[in-house]
Amino acid sequence: MRKPNFIVIHHTDQESCEQTYRTFALKRTQVSSHYVICDDGSITQMLNDLLRGWHAGNSSWGNVTDLNSVSIGIELDNDGEEPFSYAQINNLMWLLEHLSEKYKIPKQNIIGHADVAPGRKVDPSALFPWKTLADSGFGIWYDETKLNDLVLDDSFNPVKALKFIGYNITNLESAIYSFKLHFNPSEVSKKLTDKDKKILYLLELEVLKG
Ligand SMILES: [Zn+2]
Repeated sequence: MRKPNFIVIHHTDQESCEQTYRTFALKRTQVSSHYVICDDGSITQMLNDLLRGWHAGNSSWGNVTDLNSVSIGIELDNDGEEPFSYAQINNLMWLLEHLSEKYKIPKQNIIGHADVAPGRKVDPSALFPWKTLADSGFGIWYDETKLNDLVLDDSFNPVKALKFIGYNITNLESAIYSFKLHFNPSEVSKKLTDKDKKILYLLELEVLKG
């Protein structure tokens, strides 16, 4: 038994919830998240919160090197190309509220699979509404009103900020890709632009605020 301290969000990359249930039921696939949320918003618990899942694989975030042992995994039924439905996101937020309240999970510990496995995973997709979640207190976002007027000091090190936020920067291009998928989803690439650097600066402030 353990107390979960992170929530990792996934998309299933499957055609339907039925297909996901079948995949999870197969022993050889060795995949299991704690919850699956279908397109219509229905939530199914697959595994007790206090048991370790097998959803994150080889992963790290900050000082944590095995996310499976400390996190709850939530799978969203999505083929990776379609938008996430209103019902699905709405019920996801209900579940996040319930879980973060119950286990006192800090808001900055609600993250995506791609965040913790750069270069290996790209879920949830760029269509996932991270900002909407953060507006409701789940996960962090940056103060967009400060973006335009911000002038960065030469001493600001964007790679250090990426690491400070939690990304594993062993493969820097992969870390940048995962970061942009989450925080600058309309311009996903493996290069840091001036805008990305400003976003990193502002995110660092959010993490420091806690
Ligand atoms: Zn995943």
